[in-house]
Amino acid sequence: MVCNADEGEPGTFKDRVVFTEVPDLLFEGMTVAGYAVGASEGIVYLRAEYEYLLPGLLEVLDRRRRLGLLGRNICGKEGFDFDVRIQMGAGSYVCGEESSLLESAEGRRGAPRTRPPFPVTRGYRNQPTALNNAETLCCAARILAKGADWFAAQGTRDSTGTKLLSVSGDCARPGTYEVEFGLSVNKLLALVGADEAAAVQVGGPSGTCVAPKDFGRKICYEDLSTGGSVMVFGPGRDMLEVVRDFTEFFAEESCGWCAPCRVGTEVLLRMLDEIRDGRGTQDHLYRMMQLGDTVKACSRCGLGQTAVNPFLTTLRNMRDIYTERLSAHEYVPRLDLKKAVAFSEELAGHRSEVKEE
Ligand code: SF4
Repeated sequence: MVCNADEGEPGTFKDRVVFTEVPDLLFEGMTVAGYAVGASEGIVYLRAEYEYLLPGLLEVLDRRRRLGLLGRNICGKEGFDFDVRIQMGAGSYVCGEESSLLESAEGRRGAPRTRPPFPVTRGYRNQPTALNNAETLCCAARILAKGADWFAAQGTRDSTGTKLLSVSGDCARPGTYEVEFGLSVNKLLALVGADEAAAVQVGGPSGTCVAPKDFGRKICYEDLSTGGSVMVFGPGRDMLEVVRDFTEFFAEESCGWCAPCRVGTEVLLRMLDEIRDGRGTQDHLYRMMQLGDTVKACSRCGLGQTAVNPFLTTLRNMRDIYTERLSAHEYVPRLDLKKAVAFSEELAGHRSEVKEE
């Protein structure tokens, strides 16, 4: 039973709140999940940057052992053996992807595995492995305490329950909020005190950038899906610069395994720079769209498949941030073919032959 607590998505900090405020709830969720799937070993894969939380979490685990809530014959139930250890990550974003996380937990370089097989059949050390995030495990513990009907009565038909949101950026009250699924972006902005939001990034850089015209959209799986990160951008923000920073982040975090992600993110970054510096043309947008679709379709794991989202979603929802910076000229190739041919003829000492059809 593995808990994915490698929350590395920029703008996400809800797991940190879980670990500091309600660690018992998480360990309880892991324990009941372990009981449900017949696991005797639980691993929390903790984000490297959260190392400072480790001593406190180890104390909580020790206390739970003393109380008979971890270890052998838990709560006096014969054969209910389960314990938890904490494994530190090493600061790689891609280890938030479940198979990379397992590679790292086994002591190897954190790179995605080819799937199938999926972790439920062959996961940690080739054992069947249930792998969930911290919030899901907390939900499991609360559902057991309060009943499934209580949980299902909240949210929407296809997204039952509540969602933890880490809200940051240009708002008066940033922080971690628990809201019912189905809350509109408008209502969330009112809650966090963001009256003048010009854009909201829902789901972190790999999610969706929403413009004011779409603030009526709802946060739920059937509309705006999010792992928990919500970033608010006020009117003073340069959204092209934001997209550029997100793209640079993905280029930096790409593990380099496959070319579409490794090369595509770098090329996209360069083209964004060209637009920012006033050297972009309509042709840039066309080629960037094609490149984006290729990177999305051909990358091996979720990082590459979502790395182009900042560009693609802003191109769809706020195209002006690009078009207003394009130069008036149509695409001008950097290579002057005639000059290049003349130069090579000079070097070769003879003229090129042109065969007539
Ligand atoms: S998509 Fe990117 S992060 Fe994922 S395997 Fe390919 S290179 Fe690595």
